[in-house]
Amino acid sequence: MIMDALTSQTSVCEAEAFDIEAGWSRLAAGERGLRAPGGTAAERAFNQIAAQLEASALSAAGAASVRDFTGDASGYVAAMSIKGLSHLRRELGSSVADRIIAETTERLKALLPESRLGRVGRAGLEFGFSAADEADAAAALARLEVAFEQRLHVDGQVFDLEVVIGFASRARHGEYAADCAADALIEAQAKGRGVLAYREADLQQAAETSAMLRDLRAALADDALSLVYQPKLHVASQSVLSVEALLRWRHSSKGWISPEVFIGLAEETGLIADITRWVVRKAISDQAWLAGSGKPVTVYLNLSGRLLADVSFCAWILDTVRQFDGCALGLEITETAVIDDPERALANLQLLVGAGLKIAIDDYGSGLSSLSYLKQMPAHELKIDKMFISTLTSSHRDPLLVRSTIDVAHALGMEVTAEGVETAGVLALLRVMGCDHIQGYFVSKPLELSALADLLGDKDFGTAFARQASPFKLPRASTQGMAG
Ligand code: C2E
Ligand code: MG
Ligand code: MG
Repeated sequence: MIMDALTSQTSVCEAEAFDIEAGWSRLAAGERGLRAPGGTAAERAFNQIAAQLEASALSAAGAASVRDFTGDASGYVAAMSIKGLSHLRRELGSSVADRIIAETTERLKALLPESRLGRVGRAGLEFGFSAADEADAAAALARLEVAFEQRLHVDGQVFDLEVVIGFASRARHGEYAADCAADALIEAQAKGRGVLAYREADLQQAAETSAMLRDLRAALADDALSLVYQPKLHVASQSVLSVEALLRWRHSSKGWISPEVFIGLAEETGLIADITRWVVRKAISDQAWLAGSGKPVTVYLNLSGRLLADVSFCAWILDTVRQFDGCALGLEITETAVIDDPERALANLQLLVGAGLKIAIDDYGSGLSSLSYLKQMPAHELKIDKMFISTLTSSHRDPLLVRSTIDVAHALGMEVTAEGVETAGVLALLRVMGCDHIQGYFVSKPLELSALADLLGDKDFGTAFARQASPFKLPRASTQGMAG
């Protein structure tokens, strides 16, 4: 039995006593747990192959065992992955990674003696176990997850293990229980959860997601997406110098869909690149039209983090911008976009700035913020997230944070925009704090292009905001359905 082989002591032979030729014969004869001292290339190769043999033997025995197990209708099947194992495999070699897997199976046996080992892969394993119901199964696996956190000693090295587990019920999913458990594992990894049960609803959600993606793709092809523009009031000049382009999608049966939803979906697939190409072209053409009508404003558009790190996409933007000489375009990016892949993102940002694009750091303060990245970013503008702005006149702490953020940004040579300004009081406070641009419903909701042109043509628009004490009415330009 393979589990017996695993539980038997691994014998690392003394350097002088190890005969590699004899070792190969012993391996060929089915001996397991045999290891050479590993001082020479030949010995390391020997160890690697020995470990691989064990893993594949486990795998074969395990597959049969899961098949047996899935015959038990009251059981559950779990798929467990060891976090970071593929990285360790690359760093330390397959032999160490395979030993970790082998030790893990031993630990599993000790912790859940009733469990039956299933397939063993390069980054984890499957096993079957019994539980009274789903809650009981989840509780057992949660205990297992904690117990696995104990340090593991392999070949003289110490590892801190972390596992993620997906599981499914044999009674409900029959012969597909192992596949369902694997799906639940992927879901758990994506959600950063330790243990997750497979959910039928997830299938339903997956179907809805794919239908929505299909409709979004069709909307893009049919030119059924649109842009609205939200002005930013420049406090010192009391005028609008720049606007933000925000994407809108009206689904034929579901109505307006928030960009937070459909952009998120598009980001999970390659569709975000095509969508952003459309946004860039449309923003450039609208900006040119406004400039041609004597209303030159810089148009900022939102760029997803993954596109900032995409060299070919950034090359496309550079090419496109060069074709439209003189277009005033800016990109809003979040700090997270840089923190995820700083080297590439910063290099691309330098290229984009070199081509004349303006850069604004969006939603500042809402995610990971690092002063060291902020310092390196060639940005012109910092946009403080509306989360800090909306509570500015009611919180004790936020005014201090906003004030010091404005000072830091100015010290780094950036202008500051406050997002989400909804009241005269907040605007007045931001002005005293030295904020450069104000954006929010109090100044204007996002507008269709023609309404934006009207607003830009209104000479009194900006000056109305200088007379601060009285409550201001919202600008009269019409807003679109889903415009906010
Ligand atoms: P964002 O870039 O931070 O845009 C600001 C969001 O706040 C917009 O929501 C805007 O309508 C809303 N907003 C503006 N003023 C106020 C206010 O005073 N109060 C409140 N409560 N909200 C205000 P929207 O249009 O729903 O967009 C949400 C997010 O979707 C955007 O956040 C941006 O991250 C993303 N997004 C929109 N268009 C695009 C796009 O073309 N590409 C990408 N990658 N993302 C986009
Ligand atoms: Mg934005
Ligand atoms: Mg924002």
